Amino acid sequence: MIHDKMRSELESKQIFEFAKKHAYEYVDTVDEQRVFPSQESLNNLRHFDEPLPVDTGDPIKILDQLQKFGAPAATAQTGGRYFGFVDGGAVPISLAAKWMTDVWDQCGGLYVISPINGKLEAVCESWLKDVLALPQETVAGFVSGTSMANLSALCAARYHVLKNLGWDFLEKGLMQAPKLRILAHQQVHASVKATFALLGFGSQNIEWLPADKQGRLDIQQLPELDNSCIVLLQAGNANTGAFDDIDAVCDLANAVGAWVHIDGAFGLWARACPQLQYLTKGMEKASSWAVDGHKTLNTPYDCGIVLCRHPESLVTALRASGEYIIYSEQRDPMLYGPEMSKRCRAIELWATMKYLGRNGIEQMVGRFYHLAKRTEAGLKASGFRMLNEVVFNQVLVACESEAQTKMVVQAVQDSGAAWLGGTTWQGQAAIRISICSWKTTEEDIDLLVSLMSAANS
Ligand SMILES: *Cc1c(COP(=O)(O)O)cnc(C)c1O
Repeated sequence: MIHDKMRSELESKQIFEFAKKHAYEYVDTVDEQRVFPSQESLNNLRHFDEPLPVDTGDPIKILDQLQKFGAPAATAQTGGRYFGFVDGGAVPISLAAKWMTDVWDQCGGLYVISPINGKLEAVCESWLKDVLALPQETVAGFVSGTSMANLSALCAARYHVLKNLGWDFLEKGLMQAPKLRILAHQQVHASVKATFALLGFGSQNIEWLPADKQGRLDIQQLPELDNSCIVLLQAGNANTGAFDDIDAVCDLANAVGAWVHIDGAFGLWARACPQLQYLTKGMEKASSWAVDGHKTLNTPYDCGIVLCRHPESLVTALRASGEYIIYSEQRDPMLYGPEMSKRCRAIELWATMKYLGRNGIEQMVGRFYHLAKRTEAGLKASGFRMLNEVVFNQVLVACESEAQTKMVVQAVQDSGAAWLGGTTWQGQAAIRISICSWKTTEEDIDLLVSLMSAANS
């Protein structure tokens, strides 16, 4: 019977030993692997096209299939030369903690189901407030990523602002509600547009504000705010890394009772690095913030955080209730996010923060900036055109012509030695380099620069 088979697999540990062997093999070779899979590896993905088996499988063969055809089709995000998107690697302790505690398979939604997750969420909340210097009343919710964190924060904002206008959103909904003014600039992250759609705001109802050449909100163009406003700011533009003038906008908003939300998926961590802290000046004056662990902090994926200084509004806006739900005196994680059953993602975040400590976080963030400046210097010296001021971890450059720019992107991608992405910046093709893996070294940067220069000459 299948139950006996599974029981013996658990007891013998053979498949776990096998998994460990394959995992170590990957870790030991990731730096020599192609950063993006070869065409052959991509073709081999066809081995996964098969009907659902009728009979019970052989677990060793299943793991083998994953290792043989799966691993070569993974991008080497945990190596040092993946510069596409703002992704980040995984700090070893974060992987180890995840691995060790995966066997607990906890449902993280309620304290009564997983006291350890409730505890570690509370600890992470307090450490995050400390390292990001946020107001004492701030609460944190642990969600899948910044997409979900932005959504949660904007639900709180919608509830809160409408309540101030005398409208109970939970009872009466959005259809007949007093008009909210949603302000965002044209350089919001692509995911924010999806979030607005989910919230039912409608893209035509957004007051889209102009952005300057660096992709920052042009504050001269900010219209007069009032207490029906929700303003979305960015700490870290996904192309340029630029930060909006948070301080000035928060002052204007707070004077009239508007809500400011800051999308700081990767950039909020600048706050943890004294050298870069100036970028987030005044951020403690906002109402809510969204940040990822899985980008700059290099936790494994599935680690987003919503932070909100109005706990009541966040919890009320996201509240689910049911007769069978047992809330406790302790922290119930599901109150601070939209999901009920969820992974205990605070475990990896806790392990990462405990391991790095304040100094380690500062070093890691500072190093991304240092390496970005090195990239900038190298590319400038090789004749590339800089399109952004490098203030954080993003470097945006172009060649003499569109065609040349696209050709360099293609050449680097094809080389397999590094990976970066192309983008369009202010109507022109551009090359976008994100530095956010702890694994990346100065040698990796120099290699990237030489690959790009060779392709461009
Ligand atoms: C990545 C990113 C998001 C989306 O976050 P996910 O973790 O991918 O859900 C939102 N905003 C910015 C600025 C980002 O960089």
